[in-house]
Amino acid sequence: MEPVDTGVTDAEPHDDGTPREDAPVADEAAPPTLGQVLLAVEELWPESLAESWDEVGLVAGRPTAPVTRVMFAVDPTLEVIEEAVEWGAELLITHHPLLLRGVTSVAATTAKGKAIHRLIESGTALLTVHTNGDSAVGGVSDVLADALGLEGVAPLTLASNGLPEEGIGRVGDLADVMSLGDFAARVFGILPSVAGGVRVSGDKDGLVRRIAVCGGAGDSLFNEVRASNADVFVTADLRHHPASEAREAAVNGRPYLIDVSHFASEWLWLPAAASALGNVLTDQGHDVEIQVSSTNSDPWDFILTPG
Ligand SMILES: [Zn+2]
Repeated sequence: MEPVDTGVTDAEPHDDGTPREDAPVADEAAPPTLGQVLLAVEELWPESLAESWDEVGLVAGRPTAPVTRVMFAVDPTLEVIEEAVEWGAELLITHHPLLLRGVTSVAATTAKGKAIHRLIESGTALLTVHTNGDSAVGGVSDVLADALGLEGVAPLTLASNGLPEEGIGRVGDLADVMSLGDFAARVFGILPSVAGGVRVSGDKDGLVRRIAVCGGAGDSLFNEVRASNADVFVTADLRHHPASEAREAAVNGRPYLIDVSHFASEWLWLPAAASALGNVLTDQGHDVEIQVSSTNSDPWDFILTPG
């Protein structure tokens, strides 16, 4: 009878205690399964923190498949998926959901169907970490607040299923008072470069210290921003009416508004998320390469401004 291969070799250490070269090291660098990566993701960005309207979690993929490379991106666009496939990622983690609303077909004749086909045919899993990634500690707005140098940071709205540190948006204070113009320059400086730049509403010389932020579209949060006594609200996708009404309701001109690119405001989270997931997987003894997508998926390409 053939002996059963247990994968363990009979390796005695050298006399000086160092392991022999053929000593078993398999467990040390074993790639995790997708299912194991999902558990690490759940530890960092629990699905219970997602908003009720949201769709987060695994979109495509087999939990038993091994994962050696993970790519993070904001959007599951075809260009991003191609980048992940070409790099050899078995898992693409995006902030935005590919499938948020119901579909009746994923035929490859549609954009979303093409995405699904490319993912499955290449063996690339897709995972969404959306509002759970916004709400969690170390989430999108936390990273934004941190990059802006805010202190004493707290959520703008508490997560219904979370800790007091978890929720949507953040508010905190700058170490020193600065002008709105200088603060806007700081915002511009920390974000990836995009066509739309940064738009500001308010007195350039007005002094600011207390800052509210919401990565992504935050114009549903004006009541919370006002209640937080913020001097400035930094968010994305500010539409005319909410922005105009907020300016009309401002007290002493505050809160001033800083409107940034949706993509840029959420992109900042990617390197932080990649490093957090890498740490959890390393602690669990897994060896996974993690990279942030280099695709700019901001939909805008150029802008015309007076002068
Ligand atoms: Zn978003």
